[in-house]
Amino acid sequence: MGRDEPHDVAIIGAGPVGLVAAALLGRAGVDVVVVERYPDPFGLPRAIRMDHEAMRIWQELGIAEELLADALPVVRYEWFGADGEPIVAFDMPPAPSGWVFSYTFFQPELEAALERLIDRLPTVQMRRGVACTGVVEHDDHIVIELAPFDVAANAPDLSAAAEELQARYLIGADGARSTVRGLLGIPANDAGFGERWFVIDLLPRDADVAARLPDFPMQFCEPGRPHMMAPNGRRHRRWEFMLIENEDAADYERPDHIWGLLSPWLAPDEATIVRGAVYEFRAAVAESFQAGRRCFLVGDAAHRMPPHLGEGMCSGLRDAKALAWRLELVLRGSAGTSLLDSYSSERLPHAQALVDQSLAMGKVSCERDPMAAAQRDRALRAAGGVEPWPFPALGPGLGHADDGISPSLVGQLSVQGSVESAGRSGRFDDVVGRGFSLILDDGGPDELSPAARAAFESIGGRVAALGANVSDTDGALTGWLRAHGAAAVVVRPDFYVFGAVARVADVPALVDDLLAQVHATAATNPQTIRKTQENHVHH
Ligand SMILES: Cc1cc2nc3c(=O)[nH]c(=O)nc-3n(C[C@H](O)[C@H](O)[C@H](O)COP(=O)(O)OP(=O)(O)OC[C@H]3O[C@@H](n4cnc5c(N)ncnc54)[C@H](O)[C@@H]3O)c2cc1C
Repeated sequence: MGRDEPHDVAIIGAGPVGLVAAALLGRAGVDVVVVERYPDPFGLPRAIRMDHEAMRIWQELGIAEELLADALPVVRYEWFGADGEPIVAFDMPPAPSGWVFSYTFFQPELEAALERLIDRLPTVQMRRGVACTGVVEHDDHIVIELAPFDVAANAPDLSAAAEELQARYLIGADGARSTVRGLLGIPANDAGFGERWFVIDLLPRDADVAARLPDFPMQFCEPGRPHMMAPNGRRHRRWEFMLIENEDAADYERPDHIWGLLSPWLAPDEATIVRGAVYEFRAAVAESFQAGRRCFLVGDAAHRMPPHLGEGMCSGLRDAKALAWRLELVLRGSAGTSLLDSYSSERLPHAQALVDQSLAMGKVSCERDPMAAAQRDRALRAAGGVEPWPFPALGPGLGHADDGISPSLVGQLSVQGSVESAGRSGRFDDVVGRGFSLILDDGGPDELSPAARAAFESIGGRVAALGANVSDTDGALTGWLRAHGAAAVVVRPDFYVFGAVARVADVPALVDDLLAQVHATAATNPQTIRKTQENHVHH
């Protein structure tokens, strides 16, 4: 098999992050091929919590309402101490993205919704049952080597004939043990953290049993065996138990052992086990999310974190969004190639910050030393709560350096408010549209020359003058701008702030800077990549 024209983008891995990258690019009409080694969707849950930013992506993909049939807004999160009594209750803070701060969900339903969406996208081709085994970078395209995947051996069949696929860009979305990362020669910095946890998902027998179980996440910070329980969506329930030192993972496959662990909550006839598995939680971040000019890493292939914050998949979704809009503009010829370089420089520090926060969170909640745990419990009870960690901003990349706003809004997540425009009302992205938006407080004027406005529109820019062409019905956008002393802000397609200005007179400079940065062309990168898995037989 083969075709003369390279695909625009090849995505290796159809986990949630690869699927989202494919859906975003496919909806933009980009020609995408997705390569997944397993013949069928995985079908079992890993992630259970998603945040408001993920919801804004589902909104864009048109599946938010469908997911809300089962996804459950999280109203609180409680920790219980070494004595089994409450130590702290986290109320969920308001969220900027136009959705509740976080939700629990059942991952197979998300992946099924994404698969259905991708099925309907004519420019996305799904190749299942083949694994990526080699990558060769040429000046204007990448050659990707594929081999049939032997499910029984859980390895590519390297004795079979290799198939070659060509693409202009390659996205490695192939998970924590990423073959693509290895082939690209990108080292990952491992934090040296390793814990084994037993993860079990249950379907309660009926509504009465389900109603007896808490509908919000609970962390049991018992030094003898830290564990947690949470709803994963409206119907399912998740427990996670830390394995202690030399415990044998095989014991956790025995039903009597499983039901022994669950006995405080449920009897065996009250629920069906959907799956139980021992996972090793690790923390690692790739040294770069890019290699050469044309290859990128997203999701767990780029960063891996223990699930204490529920941000692993969410971070991957941010990667997919950040890369998809850049690739779309570059492939369309509306942006210069250096736009792609800011993907790694922005996303890496952001993901690293969340890896660090996840580790810090786990260190506190999973304290194994009884004395230290008792001290933690006393301190948290005395404090009466915990200040939420500041959410990280993007690393350096595409941003308007001097915006006259302090503290700077550059690289911060924007606010999505409810608005009304041209007879439509609803969330900003649905009403005004997606892409770059220049949002002006107090009706403008925007001071843009016709040429600057046309150039802004040519990269997908829209102007929303609050109080003029757009009414800020819930006051969220006006409140946000005024809290920062901003007369105008430019929000990027990935919802992060490019820049803000305190004076309307500075809007043209802000937009000019955006256009200059988007159009910049990268210097040719001398690095080329030629890697194939060893022992691959070429025919
Ligand atoms: C127990 C647990 C709980 C978690 N809870 C949360 C949570 O609440 N919230 C959250 O945001 N995150 C959570 N996470 C993290 C989240 O599950 C991961 O971050 C997410 O699944 C990563 O998605 P991905 O698409 O990057 O990778 P994966 O889901 O690992 O998908 C990678 C895909 O690539 C395929 N592949 C691999 N190699 C090749 C190859 N050579 N060729 C072709 N295909 C290949 C694989 O078969 C797989 O389908 C949790 C993780 C675990 C284990």
